[in-house]
Amino acid sequence: MKIHIHDIPEDGLDLVFRQANQAWVARTLVEAFDGLLPTGAPAEASLRLFRSDTTVTVTGEVVAELQLTCDACLESYQEEVVIPIQQYLIPASAMDTSDRKVARGGAAGPYDQASPSLAGARSKLVAERRSLRSQDDDMQFGTYHGKYLELDSILRGAIVLERPIVFHCQESCRGLCDHCGINLNRERCRCHEESAPHPFAALKQITLK
Ligand SMILES: [Zn+2]
Ligand SMILES: [Zn+2]
Repeated sequence: MKIHIHDIPEDGLDLVFRQANQAWVARTLVEAFDGLLPTGAPAEASLRLFRSDTTVTVTGEVVAELQLTCDACLESYQEEVVIPIQQYLIPASAMDTSDRKVARGGAAGPYDQASPSLAGARSKLVAERRSLRSQDDDMQFGTYHGKYLELDSILRGAIVLERPIVFHCQESCRGLCDHCGINLNRERCRCHEESAPHPFAALKQITLK
């Protein structure tokens, strides 16, 4: 799904995508959640796009009902997760220019003299990044190619970075008994009570002559 940057009006653009409504949304989310989001489960991405010249800021969130397996008790459960999206995108061509200049040693060569505005553009870029970093450390940086934003890769990037990797059905999950395997949330076992003398403990005392 591509958006031309000039289609982002001055006062921003709000977009909502639902897994159930668009095939590309379903494909992108299911893939990015790496098996945690069942096809057809409720999942929605809401985005707000702002543009200042060629710099685009994307904020919003993905809300998805995931099907998870508890790491401790191995029960499956559902949980709604909210993935924040905060990205600051600049044209890839601006990065190429600054990379090339760095590769040349950064010294004022004939290339720099021929186009002094590039050096200015780069320092402006660096300054903008710094100020944005200090404003919000959660902001991610990225680039876009040509004049189009690829919404699929914006969503994928945010989800892959923020999707849960530790799963607990409840904060106080007791897990499984490491001895008998019983689910300690539902049942109690006696494995750990048996620090009392084992019925056959006496056998250990017998020494054969
Ligand atoms: Zn559990
Ligand atoms: Zn047990």
